[in-house]
Amino acid sequence: MKNIAFFCIPAHGHTNPMLPVAAELVRRGNVVRFYSFHEFEKKITATGAEFISCDDYLPQLTEQEESGLKNVSTTELTIQDLRITRNMDAFLDEEFKTFRPDVVYTDSVCFWGKLSAWKHHVPMVVSTSTFAFNQMSSQYMKNSPKELADMIFGLPRISKELKKLKPYGYYVNGTLSLIQSDNQTDSVVYTSRRFQPYAESFSDHYTFVGPSVFSKAEPNKDKVRPLVYISMGTVINDKPDFYSKCIEALKAEPADVVISCGNAIDRDVFGTLPDHIKMYPYVDQLDLLSKADAFITHCGMNSVSESLYMATPMILYPQTSEQQAVARRVIEIGAGIMLTDDKVDDICSAVQEVLHNDTYKTAAKEYSEDFRSCSGTAGAAEFIEHAPHSSDGVDIIEEVNKASGKFQFVYWLIIIAIICLIGFLVSWKNVWMIGMAAGILSTPIGRIVQKQQYATIVEKNK
Ligand code: UDP
Repeated sequence: MKNIAFFCIPAHGHTNPMLPVAAELVRRGNVVRFYSFHEFEKKITATGAEFISCDDYLPQLTEQEESGLKNVSTTELTIQDLRITRNMDAFLDEEFKTFRPDVVYTDSVCFWGKLSAWKHHVPMVVSTSTFAFNQMSSQYMKNSPKELADMIFGLPRISKELKKLKPYGYYVNGTLSLIQSDNQTDSVVYTSRRFQPYAESFSDHYTFVGPSVFSKAEPNKDKVRPLVYISMGTVINDKPDFYSKCIEALKAEPADVVISCGNAIDRDVFGTLPDHIKMYPYVDQLDLLSKADAFITHCGMNSVSESLYMATPMILYPQTSEQQAVARRVIEIGAGIMLTDDKVDDICSAVQEVLHNDTYKTAAKEYSEDFRSCSGTAGAAEFIEHAPHSSDGVDIIEEVNKASGKFQFVYWLIIIAIICLIGFLVSWKNVWMIGMAAGILSTPIGRIVQKQQYATIVEKNK
């Protein structure tokens, strides 16, 4: 029996997969103390874990900060995460003294969980509610110019906040070391090895347990009319225009439609809905997905995993770069199509395609079986109970970095040789242009070569 401290940020998508794991650990006789927020109290106590409120440590937000969080600005999320860590420091020092956790199980972006585990030298396991993102798998993310600008211009503010942590005994080598999945940290990932991009690049410190869900219900699609389910998740779900377009697109469709629209929307703005279209602030998503034939989704990792778990093909409408990465993977496996434009006609034809072309259904069913063959919440619980873990296999990322380093060395040697050759034989006048072109091309060429090197290294280590 162990004392296990759970930490999570106040977000459904991050908290939900930790709940069945907490329930399983409690069932096995462990004491689980879950540090979370009032909004999640009922769900947490239902698992048998002890709920500890952290609401008092949430900082007061300015209007600008609040809007940054609402728009999932990486800078704002990071800064508030670091502020909460400072606010909670004295409280957590005391908790670690009295509760004396044997293991900390913390969400991957919950910095106060990670930092306090490091500070108090307690074995830590990270709960990863997205794909595990390292330098290979993060290539699936294509940051928009707005996201890139947010990250670049936010750096000085973030490093100022990081400096403020030092007097509290937290030493951090930049935000990346707090966020990125490295091959030394024990991590639970709620997907299968097969669905995780570049799965081979993750060491034995990772366990891929499949979606963490309470329901073990099998998909059951037998009914008279098809069912279309629509949800934009729980964070950026304030999308009345999009819901209106979906209603318009599906008003004549011989199907039942359920829309989960979140709490922020006034449902009266949609007027009287056709009988076959229902709209709710929150639904039992797993139950709906078990019956649904098509899911219009924002591509949150949990929603997509739950959809595949319930063998439901998808119409993909990602809003952030992380959701883009998830959508890209769904397309690769053939279980959905991208909604490139959200015009009424596009929504209508995308739904028709997914409902009537069986290939999407077949792919979703295949992954449902794959997910169900994973070790699940029992596997996650066992991994947490036995932390810390060791990994004596080859670190693929280390090998890839070595190979990339060699390639870059040879690449620049060749470029310098070309520059010298042209300079001596022709003229030195415009050789700087060759250097500049080589600099611009080095990243895309490096990426292509890195992918080939990765494939070779993986093959060699099979
Ligand atoms: N969810 C739910 N009912 C709803 C809407 C969402 O149960 O009406 C759950 C859903 O099952 C999933 C989570 O909320 O577990 C949403 O997480 P996801 O990662 O998909 O998106 P996020 O809300 O974090 O953007």
